[in-house]
Amino acid sequence: MKLKDIIAVLERLAPPSLQEGYDNSGLLVGSGDDAVNGAVIALDCTEEVIDEAIRLEVNLVIAHHPIVFSGLKRFNGKNYVERTIMKAIRHGISIYAIHTNLDNVIAGVNGYFAKQLNLADTAVLRPKENILQKVIVYVPIEHQEQLRSAMFAAGGGQIGNYDECSFNVAGEGTFKANDDANPFVGERGERHIAAEVRIEMICEVFKMDKVISAMKKAHPYEEVAHEIISIQNSYNRIGSGIVGNLEHPMKTDAFLNLVKEKFNLSIIKHTRILKEEVRRVALCGGSGVFLLGDAKRAGADVFITADVKYHEFFDADNDLVLADIGHYESEQKTGELLAAELKHNFNTFAVHLSTINTNPVNYY
Ligand SMILES: [Zn+2]
Repeated sequence: MKLKDIIAVLERLAPPSLQEGYDNSGLLVGSGDDAVNGAVIALDCTEEVIDEAIRLEVNLVIAHHPIVFSGLKRFNGKNYVERTIMKAIRHGISIYAIHTNLDNVIAGVNGYFAKQLNLADTAVLRPKENILQKVIVYVPIEHQEQLRSAMFAAGGGQIGNYDECSFNVAGEGTFKANDDANPFVGERGERHIAAEVRIEMICEVFKMDKVISAMKKAHPYEEVAHEIISIQNSYNRIGSGIVGNLEHPMKTDAFLNLVKEKFNLSIIKHTRILKEEVRRVALCGGSGVFLLGDAKRAGADVFITADVKYHEFFDADNDLVLADIGHYESEQKTGELLAAELKHNFNTFAVHLSTINTNPVNYY
């Protein structure tokens, strides 16, 4: 197994282009052609996690948080980041981080968070902009089916729970090939009129390259007439946070108890309980208080996140219950999601969930 095969599966789940500008997700140590014999999956890549990989005799650590965020100028073991990287390199262990790109897909950190609480009708709390594009292509009528199929197979035409979505209209195309051309139909130097179909298809921006190359491969013409257009439609599957509904309303204290139990919490910090029951729940694993306004606008009864500062609790302003369950706690299940994804794709690849609690915060 090559490292790049593992990475391809992870990046299909969470395309790296979806990471935030400040992030440093991706392959931090190692190279795609390295052979991998197994992986440890952890929330944080620490020295202890590298030790765990050594003990388990596997040569890959996959972590949610990137151990390297900013530039490193020297490697002399003066801080935990340098020591972790040095140890990994010395032992031939690769490190891969899948951070805000995994936060930004609905099937990622927050989708898995929502699953623990059985939320239904989920949507992203703050959709990322400019995620959708449309491709329009003109093809001879008799080749339309093969072209559509190739583009669908590459990921074009997926809208929510529907795929193979396209719009098709028949018309006439004209062209005149010059002396250097090698036209599929018609003669050089003469105007040709062809019965063509205009196929339109929506596509997530990070899949467009694949769709365009599949389109060019499946199209009979030398020059493929096509247009790629940015569209402004909001798209509730890519972005920050998540909101959804409990199947049945729950007493607020019973709900908080459920959260405690599911995430093995000793404490939840929260603002005043406002209503007897909760039904609509907003979540953001990690530091998500920037989404407080979005959670209010989405009509959430409660917003669960982490790293909430004292004055930020005031901003809940009796509009919802703002609850802080701890950064590690809110994201601790993320490893299970990654392990399931890898096991689903590679049934013989050894995947270990780290048993190290990397939470730097303790409660007394
Ligand atoms: Zn985090």
